[in-house]
Amino acid sequence: MARFTRVIGIPKLTVHLARGLRFRLTLSYVLFFTVLLVAIGLLFRKQMQYQTTGDVQDALEEEWGAAKGYLKIEYQQPRWIADASDPEEAYIVSRIKHVFFIADENGNALDYDETYEGMGLDSAEEIHKIISKREPTIHTRYDKNGVPYLIKAGRIPDDKGRPYFFAIGRSLAPAKNTVRAFTRAYFFSLPAMIALTGLLGWALAGGAIRPVNLVAQTARDITGSNLSLQIPLRGAGDELDHLIDSFNRMTARLHQSFEQTRRFSTDVSHELRTPLTAIRGQLEVALFTAETPEQYRDAMVNALEDVEKLSSIVRALLLLSQAESGQLALQKAPLDLSEVARDVVDQFQIPAEERRVTLSATLTPEIIVAADHTQMERMISNLLSNAIKYTPAGGAVKVRVGLADAIGWVQLVVEDTGMGIPAENLPHIFDRFYRVRNANTSAVQGLGLGLSFVAWIVEAHGGRIEVASTVGEGTRFTVVLPAGSDAPAEPEITAHTQTA
Ligand code: ADP
Repeated sequence: MARFTRVIGIPKLTVHLARGLRFRLTLSYVLFFTVLLVAIGLLFRKQMQYQTTGDVQDALEEEWGAAKGYLKIEYQQPRWIADASDPEEAYIVSRIKHVFFIADENGNALDYDETYEGMGLDSAEEIHKIISKREPTIHTRYDKNGVPYLIKAGRIPDDKGRPYFFAIGRSLAPAKNTVRAFTRAYFFSLPAMIALTGLLGWALAGGAIRPVNLVAQTARDITGSNLSLQIPLRGAGDELDHLIDSFNRMTARLHQSFEQTRRFSTDVSHELRTPLTAIRGQLEVALFTAETPEQYRDAMVNALEDVEKLSSIVRALLLLSQAESGQLALQKAPLDLSEVARDVVDQFQIPAEERRVTLSATLTPEIIVAADHTQMERMISNLLSNAIKYTPAGGAVKVRVGLADAIGWVQLVVEDTGMGIPAENLPHIFDRFYRVRNANTSAVQGLGLGLSFVAWIVEAHGGRIEVASTVGEGTRFTVVLPAGSDAPAEPEITAHTQTA
């Protein structure tokens, strides 16, 4: 029977490990140190070879110098003239005679030792060549067993001044052995050193990527409900700290955006619930208690008003989403901003009077802009409705339309003597669904959409909007738009507090 076993765990783990940053860091570390250790070993070996051969050569030079004092050639016979009673002289001569060869200029051997003979005595031709040179030569020769010797050969005169061939040698075996022993010890211990490097690399890489793992772990832990989670900075100011900082900022932004959406859902449901409850109440009253056609009519009229309110909320939401997704096309045409402002101010006179707020307007005629009429109306009415909403009874709201300071621009100012906006809230008031929440604003209803719509309209017309506000004194919104039909502009929204 055919069997098939598939091993999943081990290869998967191996692949994971091999792809891991820690593994790759360790591998690079080990490779780097292997190359470095081998290079250091080879360099040391070379230096050692040079040093040990140098030592042998120095000793050879010394013996060469001494040999000239102890060796006399008389009547074609070499004679060693060391004082036999002096142990030091005897030792020196014995060392020289350890490896040596003396021959006459015709190549006839006069004296030599066994070791030199083992390497093969120099031929008459070689002897002649060396004698003919002024300076002695140094070269390496090998005996039958392959042991290397450093040989110094040159000429030496006899008592008549005739030149003779003289050579001495020193074994290079101890030097070679030292180098070989070092090489063996070094390269044998190399795998252990590399293994140690690997362990150290693994530990160091682990330490280096621990914060990365921490970031990954925290990222995994973050869900919609704990977006406020922040990874503590290590204080090293390095790339990892930058990464952590960016990550923290990202989660903070996400947190803010989630919060906004959550607040929005609450606000929308609250805003929708109030008219819905009212409609339900009115319909129930009509159903259970109304008797006359007038009572039915009243209940239906009231219900209709609330339905209208519901529709306007839904319309505002729909419009904003269309505007922000680019689906709302602007119908730009030359129009007089002062006339649009006058119409809107007229519409707001009654609501302003009801709230006992004085509404006045200073309108310079013929302030022409290329704009969408409906959106201009919406922009002014949002600003005016806010000004009236956030101004207590007895306050005043002023609207001004005229030329701006900068040539080619016109401006619309809506100013009130209301509650003002705290400085910390000011940068956010144009954000979608943002509402200032404090004791003053809690009674005022709104969705936090009005100003985001205003900002979008201003931007879509190539203008900019500024707000200056002092808590307890009032707020001034200034909208600056390009004059005429097609003035270019850089849209921008700014917010600041009044310093006065
Ligand atoms: P809302 O529907 O809450 O009025 P907006 O987007 O129109 O939403 O305004 C955002 C916030 O800015 C408001 O909640 C309010 O706190 C503040 N704000 C806007 N206009 C004024 C104003 N004229 N005076 C004081 N606060 C204002």
